[in-house]
Amino acid sequence: MAPGQQKITGQKTADQKAWDIAATVCDPEIPVLTIEDLGILRNVRVTKEPNADDGGMVPAVQVTITPTYSGCPAMDAIRDDLVTAFNREGYPSVNVELVLSPAWTTDWMSDAGKVKLEQYGIAPPSGHSNAVRHAGPIRLSLAVKCPQCSSLNTKELTRFGSTSCKALYVCQDCKEPFDYFKVL
Ligand SMILES: [Zn+2]
Repeated sequence: MAPGQQKITGQKTADQKAWDIAATVCDPEIPVLTIEDLGILRNVRVTKEPNADDGGMVPAVQVTITPTYSGCPAMDAIRDDLVTAFNREGYPSVNVELVLSPAWTTDWMSDAGKVKLEQYGIAPPSGHSNAVRHAGPIRLSLAVKCPQCSSLNTKELTRFGSTSCKALYVCQDCKEPFDYFKVL
């Protein structure tokens, strides 16, 4: 067996257990979404490394994440939260690696994540990034649903809302402004 590989048994492998711990970390900007919901969490691996103190072996976790935007300041917070979550669960050694390619897309957001986003009051991305890319200069203008009243009669106010990932919309039926998580 290659180093780090776990024997498959009826129980969860060490990698799966570690994935579950990483999957509890939430996005600092949208605290209802975990990094698993967003599709930021890409890979979790557990290996063993010698403990400098007594020479015994301790579990070492290697986490791979892909930021939603390169340079998104949330990534530092996510990195810290991952280290904290693993330390609390008894993993002293945590290495968080940022992988920028392939670039994150809203297609990686889970369906459960989109539902949570809407319940939180942010319209989830509508449509797929491929459709937008293949459309060339003509942007597909898909209707954005109001997270308050589900009306499709909505209008973009500003392309860049509270963060660059979001646009500010207003519902023309219930008149409520809301954030729209743009398709990327
Ligand atoms: Zn509305």
